[in-house]
Amino acid sequence: MVKGRRGTGHSGRLEIDRPSQEILQRTAISVDADRVEARFVVGLPARGRRISGRQAEEIFFGELSELIANTLYFSALDREVLEKFVDTAEDADFIRRSLPGEGLAAFVGNGAILPRRSGVDDRPLKEGEAVAFQAPPGLEVEFVCPRRGKVTGMGIPAGVTLIVGGGYHGKSTLLDAVEKGVYNHIPGDGRELVVADFSGVKIRAEDGRSISSVDISPFIRDLPRGIDTTAFSSADASGSTSQAAGIMEALEAGSRLLLMDEDTSATNFMIRDGRMQALVAKEKEPITPFIDKVRQLYRDLGVSTILVMGGSGDYFDVADTVIMMDEYVPKDKTAEARRVAENFSTRRSFEGGEHFGNVRARFPRPESIDPRRGPKKKVKIAAKSRKLIGFGEEWIDLSAVEQLVDISQTRAVGDILHYALGNYIDGERTLGEILDLVEADLDREGLDAVSVYMKGNLARPRRFEVAAALNRLRTLRCG
Ligand code: ADP
Ligand code: MG
Repeated sequence: MVKGRRGTGHSGRLEIDRPSQEILQRTAISVDADRVEARFVVGLPARGRRISGRQAEEIFFGELSELIANTLYFSALDREVLEKFVDTAEDADFIRRSLPGEGLAAFVGNGAILPRRSGVDDRPLKEGEAVAFQAPPGLEVEFVCPRRGKVTGMGIPAGVTLIVGGGYHGKSTLLDAVEKGVYNHIPGDGRELVVADFSGVKIRAEDGRSISSVDISPFIRDLPRGIDTTAFSSADASGSTSQAAGIMEALEAGSRLLLMDEDTSATNFMIRDGRMQALVAKEKEPITPFIDKVRQLYRDLGVSTILVMGGSGDYFDVADTVIMMDEYVPKDKTAEARRVAENFSTRRSFEGGEHFGNVRARFPRPESIDPRRGPKKKVKIAAKSRKLIGFGEEWIDLSAVEQLVDISQTRAVGDILHYALGNYIDGERTLGEILDLVEADLDREGLDAVSVYMKGNLARPRRFEVAAALNRLRTLRCG
């Protein structure tokens, strides 16, 4: 048995990176045809400044070999449990790959458990406390997975989807599960069969964040004092400008699916109703609300939106699919919403113009990204928590980046920014090209490619979270 901590400080500690509910590519363990590699930390035993040699011997030749024998050999593991992990991940991958061909943006399997124990506990709500997911007949689809065979559930079609329903009926819980469905989940999580397009990005208002030269003109133009919104920068963005920038940055990074919740959106970004249009002329309102852009996003760019919207039925006019959450049970209300839209005019006029507008590529400037700190100008990049990276003299605040799910991903984001700066960010390449190059290296060589020394505590982030971090570096300047 492993004894764990003894002596002072880190003495006797054996630690390996602890995974969360998501299955992520990690550096802690790698397995290939002829070897298994585990990376872990051993705190050498000591009493103050004295090394305890005998205990060190015990750890290295006793505990460690025992531990290895019990955990890293196939013969020591439960074959069924192991296979379940592999099968679960392979089936979810299969569904995710199949989504575009089926005309779907996301899938939620019947029987899925969506609610979590709490905001700080990502495990499923206990048996009996959660209502298992059941697809409404009109939206039921079927996949034949390579491992578990036939599965049924709700297909969320590409296009514009509204999730409506009364407060506390489970709207945000559904959207949260879908937004995490860009990752695979471990067996028993409840969300094994909740799968979203891998490029899905949660968008929210984030007032106070910084923005660097983003073209937000599809949504916002003619700001007071003639401020240019085709290359908009701010050290302290408003709710609406931050949400507009979030969308444009996600499109720039290649997203084909936007996820939004009224709970975390800026009202004036989402809607401008008929009465307000009558009182405040279009010329006096810089914002073109999302409601007038969401269809063009799909028509012009092929980008779908899933939107939680319990507060404004004006959106019925622009939705392809309307799902109502009713005591945690989804209902297909598409036809009914269409009838309501025909019978009750919104009396608003369309303000969206001819086309969605431009997604302008930006060229990050290397001299604006400095990971060095202190009098000796040493490179210092550290993930302080899942939500915060110390980057040189700067802090990158990722608290609104919800799809960064593990501190090991956050660490990797820091390393990737450093790597991209050293290799690809040259002022000549677009952010999209930089992300492509980094991803190609990661695909080929794994996470070791980006870290300066071998680390056992990195997990792979998506390109969207790498971009999100760079976009939140307050010193960033772009051409
Ligand atoms: P809404 O966004 O519609 O106001 P939420 O999604 O925030 O509602 O859910 C309200 C509460 O209901 C949350 O505490 C959530 O954990 C719980 N809840 C959501 N879905 C389920 C479910 N399927 N079974 C049991 N409880 C649920
Ligand atoms: Mg909600």
